[in-house]
Amino acid sequence: MKPRLLFATTNAGKLRELRGLVGDAVEVLALSDLPPVPEPVEDGDTFERNAELKARAYADATGLPALADDSGLCVDALGGRPGVHSARYAEGSDQARYEKLLRELSGVPDEKRTAAFVCALCLALPGRGAARIEVGRCEGRIGHEPRGSHGFGYDPVFLLPGGRTMAELTKEEKAGLSHRGFAFQKMKPHLLALVNGQPVGG
Ligand code: IMP
Repeated sequence: MKPRLLFATTNAGKLRELRGLVGDAVEVLALSDLPPVPEPVEDGDTFERNAELKARAYADATGLPALADDSGLCVDALGGRPGVHSARYAEGSDQARYEKLLRELSGVPDEKRTAAFVCALCLALPGRGAARIEVGRCEGRIGHEPRGSHGFGYDPVFLLPGGRTMAELTKEEKAGLSHRGFAFQKMKPHLLALVNGQPVGG
């Protein structure tokens, strides 16, 4: 029987990305494949802490190795906000949130509109053993108006160095240069080590 890994997400896109990355070596389960478990409170003040809170809680609740992620947008001119509060930065839709961001940055010149998407991934085993955390970043700038129809969240206002917004990339292009893609790539050897019975921490 293949080793099983729980990816604590309900996001089908993230799940597909992880399954593609680990290939056939591991059976990747999603939360929807298991009986409901209580959702942990994400009250950490860093992406790393929140990813670890989630991974440990789900590993302990299910008895399976668990991978969890936390991500968001950090804008330099706003002292790193919205950061871990990216999903709750404004009530309503993704559009309401990026419009609030554009309003907060109105009058800020291009060179001071630098920002980064950040993703922390944590792999934890059941029990209190060491957990492995990997972080991926994608650097860019906040534009002046939304462009593009792909992706989600703040993608339409996040400008990449080449001049396109994240929402103008195809799914494949985004996976190759996104914060989540980089964090997955860094985690891959640790996921494969887990299959071979090696420790995940360190
Ligand atoms: P979560 O970690 O998937 O819950 O994402 C937290 C929030 O950060 C999302 O609701 C988005 O607002 C923002 N975010 C994270 N990753 C991305 C991305 O790839 N594009 C756009 N927004 C993102």
